Amino acid sequence: MTKKKFERPQLKNVEELSEELVLTSLKLSQANQRLREEQAARNDMFTSISHDLRSPLTAIKNAVELLSSMEECSSEKVSSLLKMMAGRIDTLEHLINDIFLLVSLDNNCAKMDLKPIQLGFFLEDFFFSREEDSLYKDRNLELLVPEDLDVYVNMDPAQMERVLDNLFTNAYKYSDKDATISLDATLKDNEVIISVKDTGIGIAKENLEKVFERCFIVETARTPGVSSTGFGLAITKSIIEHFNGKIWCESTLGEGSCFYISLPCEP
Ligand code: ADP
Repeated sequence: MTKKKFERPQLKNVEELSEELVLTSLKLSQANQRLREEQAARNDMFTSISHDLRSPLTAIKNAVELLSSMEECSSEKVSSLLKMMAGRIDTLEHLINDIFLLVSLDNNCAKMDLKPIQLGFFLEDFFFSREEDSLYKDRNLELLVPEDLDVYVNMDPAQMERVLDNLFTNAYKYSDKDATISLDATLKDNEVIISVKDTGIGIAKENLEKVFERCFIVETARTPGVSSTGFGLAITKSIIEHFNGKIWCESTLGEGSCFYISLPCEP
């Protein structure tokens, strides 16, 4: 048997290598450019789809509002139909807005007005406005944020309000009458950990991470009459990541859930 001769691979010289490097980086920058163009086209498409969907929906909404105020439509049957239509229109509007926001967040083109915000005051304001909201009249709202929490967080206050509102609305949706919903914040090194805790139905262990995925809805948790899109926590997570923060959840079925948000902060 003849022994196969070992052939030493030919080494490329420096010029050949640097030529290849230039070519590869050119290809890479062309691919990058294509990607940017595709992303811009996708953004335009979603902007125009959501605009095209919003306009007829607004027209239908106005017509339903007009009909609801007319005497000819005051019979019990007609007004209950109009009420049902108004509810469906709200759900659709909510869904279109959520999809649009999620796409803008994905493409880094959502309106983000990041600035240092005094967190203690911000959380108090948020809490007091929910206390006045009749939605929570049969829930116990608890503010546990320490009065001397004097830290600044770089965030967009309108988007942060949306995050907390989503956590509070979920705490309401997935709990029963007389449940407790509490808002807390603690300092840990250079981070602040905000938590929204409820004594509601809880989340099964296997779903704790899935709840942050798009369109994930626990079928058994569907509350009759409460609209669910399954986008709320995906949007929440994306906003928090835009603030360089993290979000996670701990929960026990039948006892309740606690959503934690950690954010970098400065004294
Ligand atoms: P939506 O509430 O519109 O369905 P979310 O993304 O906000 O969408 O939530 C996803 C799923 O996570 C919900 O369908 C629900 O099953 C579960 N979930 C969220 N928050 C809570 C909570 N506080 N308690 C129990 N389940 C919750």
